[in-house]
Amino acid sequence: ICWSEKGGWHRPRVQPYGPIPLDPAASVLHYGQEIFEGIKAYRHADGGVYTFRPDRNAARLRKSAERLALPALPTSYFIQSLRELIAVDEAWVPSGADQSLYFRPFMFAKEAFLGVRAAKKVAYYVIASPAGSYFSGGVKPVSIWLSENYTRAGKGGTGAAKTGGNYASSLLPQAEAASKGCDQVVFLDQDRNVEELGGMNVVFVFKDGRVVTPASDSILEGITRDSLLQLAEDRGLTVERRPVPLQEWRDGVASGDIVEVFACGTAAVVTPIGVLKGDGFEDVQPTGELALSLREELTDIQYGRREDKHGWLVRLDG
Ligand code: PMP
Repeated sequence: ICWSEKGGWHRPRVQPYGPIPLDPAASVLHYGQEIFEGIKAYRHADGGVYTFRPDRNAARLRKSAERLALPALPTSYFIQSLRELIAVDEAWVPSGADQSLYFRPFMFAKEAFLGVRAAKKVAYYVIASPAGSYFSGGVKPVSIWLSENYTRAGKGGTGAAKTGGNYASSLLPQAEAASKGCDQVVFLDQDRNVEELGGMNVVFVFKDGRVVTPASDSILEGITRDSLLQLAEDRGLTVERRPVPLQEWRDGVASGDIVEVFACGTAAVVTPIGVLKGDGFEDVQPTGELALSLREELTDIQYGRREDKHGWLVRLDG
């Protein structure tokens, strides 16, 4: 579907997968004016195809759009774009444990000009790909490298938007993490508060049952995290969204106050953090039951194996 300043959203269509024509002066190539989302469709035992909280992804896409000076896409268009793809061939959605169809909705500035201003011509596309299990052979704790040399986003920057530039700036730190033998990188803000991983949010579980996650206007508000915290609240646990200093994390683990640390996002759902490594230290992280039990509850809802009490599922086929 296309957007222009004069015509608004127009020309919705489904076309065969293939290269997109792009003018060499298209502003997305020069100024990075683009945003995206990630959301899955799940096959239920009754054959139906469902997606999870698409209103949240649509709202986040609009929030990203606002920050990147792109037009707002209505929630109904967003959900319709997923439906249209499923309608072409719903057999694309695999069945089986941990199998899904991953949608990648994205919006970019295609107006051709050289000059720094918001584009007046924009395109919104969705591509999709079957996704298997994130972990082969069961969920394994990941190791995390503490990035001291780089930040992901600054105050007033684009950290809360899902835009390619944030990921571009995390590629080098991610490579640094890999060179240190770690799976993922964790970013701090300028005040040494914990932000998030390159593509996942972080959650801490305290001995007294509190579940704490960094609140900041420079991290991506994960929909997986929000859902897990809701399920934790449903179990009577206290949830805190607030700044979490790195020192609190390291001291909490050392003293035994923090009993679990995990990361979460659409791709992996939940993954325990096994080790935090940084320049000159390596903290082994405690492991517990909550992360995996919340993971099971959430995936049970997504795959229709458990009651959807919060009305999170939206049917896409039929
Ligand atoms: N933070 C970042 C930087 C991400 O890329 C993602 C993945 N979208 C998340 C957090 C988790 O968000 P969600 O649970 O909506 O997938």
